[in-house]
Amino acid sequence: MSLFDQFSLTGKVAVVTGGRTGIGASLARALAEAGARVAIAARDVEACHAAAIAITAAGGRAAGFALDVTDRAQIETLVADVTAQFGPIDILVNNAGVCFHRDALDVPDEEWHAVFDVNVHGLWYCSQIVGRTMVARKTGTIINIGSMSAFIVNRPQFQPAYNASKAAVHHLTRSLAAEWAPYNVRVNAIAPGYIATAMSPVDDPKFHRYWIEDTPMRRPGTPDELGPTVVYLASGASSFVTGAVLVADGGYSLW
Ligand code: NDP
Repeated sequence: MSLFDQFSLTGKVAVVTGGRTGIGASLARALAEAGARVAIAARDVEACHAAAIAITAAGGRAAGFALDVTDRAQIETLVADVTAQFGPIDILVNNAGVCFHRDALDVPDEEWHAVFDVNVHGLWYCSQIVGRTMVARKTGTIINIGSMSAFIVNRPQFQPAYNASKAAVHHLTRSLAAEWAPYNVRVNAIAPGYIATAMSPVDDPKFHRYWIEDTPMRRPGTPDELGPTVVYLASGASSFVTGAVLVADGGYSLW
């Protein structure tokens, strides 16, 4: 097999949670370009359909599905629907996430739980439900979108629930990787720095001093810069890589 063939996802089926916009939309496009049939799943199903249509128009294969990752029943339905339409799931990208900027003393319980419900519990439900099918088939790759916030504390804004949730994502990644390695199911994470999306308003002047000037590369990342990374982790190109957290932060966490 040639070097580039190892990155091919031809014949694979991928699910990207939160794949309708931002980082998830770029990851979905990249997986489709590498040959996968891609299920784009988020709460705004119309936007999921639109993202899938854009991929199809570019020559890929994709479909949109309604999904709230905090609801186990919806995940079970998604797995059944994707399997019926595309075949069993080979690649799960746990990308759905939420973040609130709030000082610790002001964080209401509802907000704390909302962050953990999506970023940790939703990711856990998806991993367990899809992982069960992967373990049974003895094949699969799971890519969790973590964050550099798992090991640095962002500033000037505080976001304690988000930071703690992403630390949980990284360690759950390692835990599942160890447990499912004997079943040929690999679990890895990507830890992005500041990426220009609705979640990270990188052009807001109040953040420039800390977000951009403190990044050694002196710029935010773009969602499309993460596409090749997810294809690497999803494909045979990373066949001996599991439990890794791949940092893509322009060097932010170096100092
Ligand atoms: P966006 O806010 O642009 O997109 C978030 C996505 O998550 C949306 O598609 C949204 O769709 C989906 N989502 C939210 N809640 C749910 C839910 N309950 N069920 C299903 N889908 C849900 O964020 P980004 O693209 O920036 O972030 C994507 C991931 O990358 C997140 O995990 C984030 O933490 C992580 N990340 C982002 C960084 C950045 O700087 N942008 C840096 C590091 C990590 P809908 O509302 O339709 O459900």
